[in-house]
Amino acid sequence: MEEENFNKSKDKIMRILRNASKAKYYNKCFSDLNIDLSRDITYDEFKKIPVMDKNSYNANKFDLVTLDMKDFDMDYYNSLSKGNDKQEYLKRFKLRYMTTSGSTGQPLEVLKGYNDEYMDYFTLNYYRKKLSKYNFKGVFVWIWPENPIMRRFLNGDESNAGEKKYRSENRYGYKYHMHEHSDENFMDLYDFLIEKKCEWITSSPSVLYKLACFIQEKQLEYIKFEYIECHSEKMYEWQEEKIEEVFGCKPVSIYSSNEIQFMAGMCENKHLHMFNKGCFIEFLENNGIKEVCVTSLNYFDVPIIRYKLGDCGDWLYGESCDSALSKLPCFTLNGTRVNDLLKTKSGTIMEPFVITDSVHLMCNKFGLDIKQHKIKQLSPDSFAFYFSRKEVDCANEEYRSFLKDYLTALLEYDANVELNEIEDVEELKDGRKFKYFERCF
Ligand SMILES: [Zn+2]
Repeated sequence: MEEENFNKSKDKIMRILRNASKAKYYNKCFSDLNIDLSRDITYDEFKKIPVMDKNSYNANKFDLVTLDMKDFDMDYYNSLSKGNDKQEYLKRFKLRYMTTSGSTGQPLEVLKGYNDEYMDYFTLNYYRKKLSKYNFKGVFVWIWPENPIMRRFLNGDESNAGEKKYRSENRYGYKYHMHEHSDENFMDLYDFLIEKKCEWITSSPSVLYKLACFIQEKQLEYIKFEYIECHSEKMYEWQEEKIEEVFGCKPVSIYSSNEIQFMAGMCENKHLHMFNKGCFIEFLENNGIKEVCVTSLNYFDVPIIRYKLGDCGDWLYGESCDSALSKLPCFTLNGTRVNDLLKTKSGTIMEPFVITDSVHLMCNKFGLDIKQHKIKQLSPDSFAFYFSRKEVDCANEEYRSFLKDYLTALLEYDANVELNEIEDVEELKDGRKFKYFERCF
């Protein structure tokens, strides 16, 4: 399957590889492997390129950039502790970063080029039009899980006053911030959707499902969307049914990640179809399981070639499909993101990334390099953090009190924090799939 897809996308893949050779990392890699890009290469040659994972990405990310970085001062960049200052500095190089926790408990800063991001959306829009008969001329809203405490801690700005719940993303729509699934927030969101006459929405399935339940419980008037797009999580059938019932439209599910965006879309027959205009996917066997490995066909500023996302799955062979995506190769994923949600004293649910943010902030503040962690919520007000002995000295009282302050600010009541050193976070693995956040009650 891979070889066939490789040959179909060969022109694009070759363009990506030739451009990537401008970056220090790939230049060395291709020359070490004697890959000659003056002619088209075969899939067998392509397979020689080493697979990149979160650790190797993190160690090499600035060497992946093909843009002019000769004035880039790494020591200066690393000395910046405020998120806004880092973004301002990166702007000079037409880059920005985004922080991701992924599903694996490895916080990661991902570098994004402006042109690459534009191409991501350009490709997605092409597939959106295939997936829906809607004309996409109306106002959209993008529910964005953003943590207000994070901004405060990252930028040292103590006040949250005047913080807007939404902002214009472009002239067609809005980004709406939501990290806490409370009645108050859902009421605000409902009013916002009515006031702005939003016609289409992108969000996680869990937020949409909860909004739908909220609307029914409060006996509010149903909202009609023309297009609904879900990201980030697996959508369950019971969620899909409720969403369609309240919003009058079947939600579309997109397979996406922060490192490489928008990789596939789900058709009505529940297959994931690879967006072959934007990426090239391989399933690589490792200890009897097959792992997703992606090459972006959109990234010229910061190429990502053969990147292992941490998800598992395989091609669906011989599956017939009558959907609009039927010509695209189809696959299935198993073991997608499985993290629990955080629960407060009052029963309000919060997204698990708010917890990972605390680890990211701690790394930033104390200059730590934490590759993997795990957090358990033992009760509404007590949390156990697990770090690898090699990476964190858990006896350090400053670390504990930093995490305690963060959680107390987030929850708005006193939180207890314990730090536990273990040999290796992998020890905590529950079955094959790793949960970085687990709620134990
Ligand atoms: Zn299909």
